[in-house]
Order: sequence, then structure tokens, then C-alpha cells
Amino acid sequence: MQLPKSRRRQKLREKRCQYPGCGKIFFGIHISKYCPEHRQDRYRIRKRTKPEDVNIKNQTYKHTYTEVVTMVMDCALEGCEHQFEVKIYPRQYIYPKYCPEHRNEYKRIRHLQLIGREDLIEEMKRDGESFEFDQGALGGEEENEAVDADVVDDVA
Ligand SMILES: [Zn+2]
Ligand SMILES: [Zn+2]
Repeated sequence: MQLPKSRRRQKLREKRCQYPGCGKIFFGIHISKYCPEHRQDRYRIRKRTKPEDVNIKNQTYKHTYTEVVTMVMDCALEGCEHQFEVKIYPRQYIYPKYCPEHRNEYKRIRHLQLIGREDLIEEMKRDGESFEFDQGALGGEEENEAVDADVVDDVA
């Protein structure tokens, strides 16, 4: 006869989602790392495709410099005229693509709203950048959490 698996309830505590760019506060057991949204499989797949992630906020700048040089770059945000200085290091090819102000996702969204480019905000969200504004996904969060805690219990 098979013994029933332990259903010991783990205490939920406030956790901060570890998913890059998320940081959402959620309630989870001590080993929970991600908010309910980022526990979904599609985010796990995205996590493995590291180069794509990097390119959301950064750009790949191919160069052949052998010593540190300072470059002036244009902010990649639609409608932003700001330029910023970047130190280019030998054999390092990933650099920020937004001006210092627009490295903040919230400010990028604000800017796009101001210039009336809601379509670009949608695009950003599709690229997996903007979970915080997706308040609709919060419904049924507690339910999901309970299910998840059970699964973890069984594994442990
Ligand atoms: Zn998250
Ligand atoms: Zn900018």
C-alpha cells in the first residue's frame, strides 16, 4: 500500500521575483524564486535563450578596439534624441542601448506614452520586458501558489 505524500503546508512569505527585469513581490515558500507568471514554462524557455534577453536592454556592438575607448551613442528609444557616452572595452561586445534615463523600463513606457506610440509599448511587452504593467495576470494568484507549493512538496 502506498503511503499518501506529505501535504505539509509551507509557510508563505513575501518574496521578490528573480526573473530579470521583474522584481514583483509575491507570496511563496522559501525556495520560490519567481512570481506566478514567471513560473510558467514559456519564461523558462526564454531564460535559456540568454542572447535574446541581453538584447532587450542592450545591444551587441562588434568592434576591434584593443584598448578602452569612449564612444557616443544614440538612445535606441523611438523619439529620444539623447546621446550618451559608453566606454568600449576590448573583447566586450554587449553595451547599453538606451540613454541613462531610459534604462529604466518605466521611463521608457512613459516616454512612449508621451509621443503616442502605444504600439511600441505593446511591442516591448511582447518582447518580455514589461510584466509589471500586466495587472490582469494577477487574478487567481493564490490558487496558483497553492498548486505550486504542493508540487514542490512532492519533489522534496
Ligand atoms: Zn516575475
Ligand atoms: Zn533616451
